[in-house]
Amino acid sequence: MQPIMPMDQMHAVLSAMPDLVFILTRSGRYSAVYGGTDARYYHDGSSLIGMRIADMVVAEKAQWFLTQIEATLQQKNLQIVEYSLAGSDVKGLTTDGPSQPIWFEGRVQALPFQVDGEDAVLWVSSNITARKELEDKLRLLSETDPLTGLYNRRKLMATLEAQFQICARYATPTAVLIFDIDHFKRINDEHGHQAGDRVLTAVAHVCRAELRVTDVAARLGGDEFVILMPETTQAQAAPFAERLRMMITELLKVLTRGLEAGTVSAGLSELLAGDAGIDDVMARADRALYQAKRSGRNRIVLHDAASAGSSPD
Ligand code: GH3
Ligand code: MG
Repeated sequence: MQPIMPMDQMHAVLSAMPDLVFILTRSGRYSAVYGGTDARYYHDGSSLIGMRIADMVVAEKAQWFLTQIEATLQQKNLQIVEYSLAGSDVKGLTTDGPSQPIWFEGRVQALPFQVDGEDAVLWVSSNITARKELEDKLRLLSETDPLTGLYNRRKLMATLEAQFQICARYATPTAVLIFDIDHFKRINDEHGHQAGDRVLTAVAHVCRAELRVTDVAARLGGDEFVILMPETTQAQAAPFAERLRMMITELLKVLTRGLEAGTVSAGLSELLAGDAGIDDVMARADRALYQAKRSGRNRIVLHDAASAGSSPD
């Protein structure tokens, strides 16, 4: 049998817990606070003892904590939750400790006895800010094109797929524009690959500046870009697409100093009720782009017009 530890040692062990440990009652009272003494990771929580969560954090967060405590008490098993707290969310703390919002993982366990006449939980709170920041960085890397900062193909397809589901359910339109710089190889050949890169970056900048917040711009690869316009029909998107084409043309003229490779071609389509999936709309927009290239470049072709003309296949 394990020897019983003297109370003062037991207390010292609890105080030495690397993470913050709270005993919280059902009504949201901090009955005890242990550990988490390293100010690089945690604010000093000792002043919380005897206080209520609602007195310490803003109402919305307080309600969230109470909900987690209640769920733990009812389910009687370990709950693992993640949450962030900014210094401004928390009242009554000393100014020591990190100033940025901190991300925590909470491990919450119901206690088998009452504290101050109430059911209570043990809430172990670990600082996971570094892990969260790394996750954010990795997500950004996996979703964006490193050269332009626009969404990459993978994120574009995931976004289009989500939009497809919304359109299928609520019958809302979404326009899809694919455009490609005309004779882009010449820009690389005449001005060098780095100049080509600068052109791609500048085109992305124009897209970003011109889009509505709900629109999504992506680089599909090479000199090919896609713009998704939710809540927009192909017909409604056409004037915007034309304005974008002209703005990019102006930009290319400046960047390529009048080189012939100063235009873009585009294909425009939209999600249709009978579409089986996102490949359908991408294929239509792509066919329209192909048609634009074939009929002389420097233009936008709508998929209706592309299908009315000769088939590229
Ligand atoms: P078209 O008018 O038919 O579109 O002709 P194009 O010369 O633009 O040819 P295409 O679109 O087929 O080829 C795009 C070129 O873009 C091919 C490749 O050398 C170049 N490219 C692809 N990725 C990059 C990049 O990241 N940076 C630069 N500078 N060039 C790239
Ligand atoms: Mg091209």
